[in-house]
Amino acid sequence: ESLINRIAAGEIIHRPASALKELLENSLDAGATSIRVTVKDGGLKLMQIQDNGCGIRQSDLPILAERFTTSKLSTFADLSRLTTYGFRGEALASMSHVAHLSVVTKTRTSTCAYKAHYSDGKLAPAQPGQSEEPKPCAGNDGTTITIENLFFNTPTRLSALRNTSEEYARILDVLTKYAIHNPKVSFTCKKAGSSSPDLNTPSASTTRQAIKMLYGHTIEKDLLDTTVSEKTKDEEESWSSEVYFTNANYQAKKTVFLLFINSRLVESSRIKRALENVYTGILPKGASPFLYLSLKVDPRSVDVNVHPTKKEVHFLNEESITTRICDALQEKIAEKSH
Ligand code: ADP
Ligand code: MG
Repeated sequence: ESLINRIAAGEIIHRPASALKELLENSLDAGATSIRVTVKDGGLKLMQIQDNGCGIRQSDLPILAERFTTSKLSTFADLSRLTTYGFRGEALASMSHVAHLSVVTKTRTSTCAYKAHYSDGKLAPAQPGQSEEPKPCAGNDGTTITIENLFFNTPTRLSALRNTSEEYARILDVLTKYAIHNPKVSFTCKKAGSSSPDLNTPSASTTRQAIKMLYGHTIEKDLLDTTVSEKTKDEEESWSSEVYFTNANYQAKKTVFLLFINSRLVESSRIKRALENVYTGILPKGASPFLYLSLKVDPRSVDVNVHPTKKEVHFLNEESITTRICDALQEKIAEKSH
């Protein structure tokens, strides 16, 4: 059974950056305004994420890493975002099957923090022979999750991820994208033992400032933005989007593409290709744009059966929505180049 669990976990947690993505989403769901990440050996030895969010209640700690049982525990008020994807409640469980997982957490109303260790979906003692009960400890409001020795029990997976600097680059890439999507949240990332962070964003900035800070100041003068949305017959918004994209003067070597659907970082090669095609005849051959698209759709229209093994997202009316956005981009690029 534990082997099956490990295999299942590996489908969700492919590498350190995919674990980090899940942890980031949890911190953001918890309302954090500050997220601090510390990494050792590309996240394989250690990945720690500290947030100042709502914390986890002591009474919720025993089931925290149980599969499917969670669905945002009692401290989490906004249940509406849950419906977005169909594989919720598996992230921490998965991590507990393929890593050493520990949690220190404190809610605003609790007088102290609690520390808990997990293994194979359950509370576990910190040291063999000790009690597995969460222990009271000192700590700030919020949650610190520590993942150590990722894939220690899946040697094949581990040996496929030997390039720790590549894994670290992927971690920074995920953080950079979330920092752009959440410009009001302060993010830092550093290697364990280092005093200077490799990524450090202020809180309360704007999307434009965040892009400029993270993708280089030269992008600023060439950066356009627009919003596109559609209303239903009864004037309700059926979808809306916010796009930041470069003009004809900006020429990257490779397309930078950030896609968030309902605030989750997702991939869609079809949407990417469609947006890139807007630049055909606008950019010289070999030159590529920067594209950030944040799309809000009815959570029920996103494929809820999508499994994490399927990286590509699908949603209702994808083609017509994409076309509308592409048209808006084309128009704006043309307008600005006159
Ligand atoms: P899901 O996010 O899909 O519910 P997870 O396994 O990622 O499943 O997390 C399980 C639960 O643990 C969450 O629903 C949430 O209640 C709680 N949780 C996890 N991380 C945090 C955090 N950083 N702050 C507050 N609560 C958290
Ligand atoms: Mg989660």
